[in-house]
Amino acid sequence: MRTVLVCGAGGFIGGHLVKKLKKEGAWVRGVDCKEHEFAPSVADEFIVGDLTKQEVVASVLDRPFDEVYQLAADMGGAGYIFTGENDANLMFNSASINLNIIQQAYLQKVKKIFYSSSACIYPLYNQKDPGNPNCAEDSVYPANPDSEYGWEKLFSERLYQAFARNHGMQVRISRFHNVFGPEGTFSGGREKAPAAMCRKVAEAEDGGVIEVWGDGKQTRSFLYIDECLEAVERFMKGSFEGPVNIGSEEMVSLNELAQLVIDISGKKLSIKNIPVSYEGVRGRTSDNRLIKEKLGWAPSRPLREGIEKNYQWVLSQVTQSVSAI
Ligand code: NAD
Repeated sequence: MRTVLVCGAGGFIGGHLVKKLKKEGAWVRGVDCKEHEFAPSVADEFIVGDLTKQEVVASVLDRPFDEVYQLAADMGGAGYIFTGENDANLMFNSASINLNIIQQAYLQKVKKIFYSSSACIYPLYNQKDPGNPNCAEDSVYPANPDSEYGWEKLFSERLYQAFARNHGMQVRISRFHNVFGPEGTFSGGREKAPAAMCRKVAEAEDGGVIEVWGDGKQTRSFLYIDECLEAVERFMKGSFEGPVNIGSEEMVSLNELAQLVIDISGKKLSIKNIPVSYEGVRGRTSDNRLIKEKLGWAPSRPLREGIEKNYQWVLSQVTQSVSAI
């Protein structure tokens, strides 16, 4: 039986990945420093442990797994990674996790290991024009990520590549661009734009106002979770190592995203743009030329469809928490 370890299984992407792997018939061990917030894990074994600790990594990565998915990271949306207040923690925690895991995967002769890097590794200077950002895989140097989160991801990409080069390990490195969907964090400060917009709209009274950070003209693209996992599956099955973008090319401004959520909700709301010091790059979208060429993959559904599902889920969460008060 195919044996799989999912690190970060108590998180958004990890939780969905465990469900998919179980449907495919794999034996799955999940590990995270916390239980999943929104749905009990369906992993065969779920271990709560801190992966910054070498002894924890040695105990959970204790055999030659067929596949390891390394998704654990100290991360969050703009309100967490761009304020500067969490820099030391997020660099130390995520780098320690990756150092521990790749070394232990090597010692245990793991057959294939997936590492989730991020669009945040791309240089600031190529993302100043909201209408024309450049996030092609080979545009990464000279490096100048916009956050310490991005620098750690770039370091860890190189770490996984070095183990592949020197020890013949099979690694797969993806750069996710804003993945969203149900069962993702939508409040508390670590949420990302689609979840935050859905929450604000779900909580707003008809005729009210929702706040959007910055001037709202900054652009992004967003990938629905099911599409993301389909790309990861293809990537793991193939022989291409990456790094490769996994994202959508359907670029929208944040005000357009907010308006989309408002339209879906059926409410009449207006948008108020509020200045913040940490709004992130001006423009960012996935460049899917490489993934199309290597894996024949591109997202198959429009943004609106994913946002509709996400809005309904966030609305149900908001309604539940209001009725619980
Ligand atoms: P998430 O925060 O929901 O999941 C990450 C998980 O890692 C969390 O459950 C967290 O508890 C766990 N973790 C953190 N520190 C840990 C530790 N010391 N020991 C054990 N577990 C620990 O995030 P996600 O959206 O599911 O992202 C998964 C991966 O994909 C992350 O590596 C993230 O950087 C990367 N990524 C995600 C996106 C996105 O849009 N969701 C974009 C780019 C990259």
